[in-house]
Amino acid sequence: MTETKPDGVYAETADRLARDRDLSDEEFVFLLQCGDPALDGYLAAKAREARERVYGKDVYLRGLIEFTNYCKNDCYYCGIRRSNKNARRYRLGKEDILSCCAEGYGLGFRTFVLQGGEDPYFTDDRIVSIVEGIKKQHPGCAVTLSVGEREKESFQRFYDAGADRYLLRHETASKDHYGSLHPGEMSFER
Ligand code: SF4
Repeated sequence: MTETKPDGVYAETADRLARDRDLSDEEFVFLLQCGDPALDGYLAAKAREARERVYGKDVYLRGLIEFTNYCKNDCYYCGIRRSNKNARRYRLGKEDILSCCAEGYGLGFRTFVLQGGEDPYFTDDRIVSIVEGIKKQHPGCAVTLSVGEREKESFQRFYDAGADRYLLRHETASKDHYGSLHPGEMSFER
């Protein structure tokens, strides 16, 4: 596909972003406010080049196991917040999770993502035991955890048990915005 190059200083800024992987805040704003479809296409082409340099044309799939929809929190936007009485709650036991991984492995998955609400049932000990179980069953596979905010010692224990990655979403950098998404018991500072 042929990309139309945007005008002068926009193209130069986009080239610099592709090369240095960073710009000043003002320069990002400058690009975001440009509004020229030619710049959008040019930036997308640069992003595609970078992606293909690293991953080629391969597609990486992750086996996502939603293992509990219990959550002690009450984020206003979330379907599984604790005050939603209409949510049908479930949690999988360790054997269920290991059986999901075995099935996923057979289908070709080599990364398993364990994702759930902040469910107090899944103590650090239980998570450690599950991670160890998966790693024992599938030593070559990566395990990603996405089980919410925990203490630093917990993250260390998960890592020591074999977890490779942890997904933790940073929702907003604005305290006011955070306050509009969560009840007062949840902490922006944390
Ligand atoms: S902590 Fe996560 S799962 Fe729990 S209510 Fe908030 S967004 Fe939903």
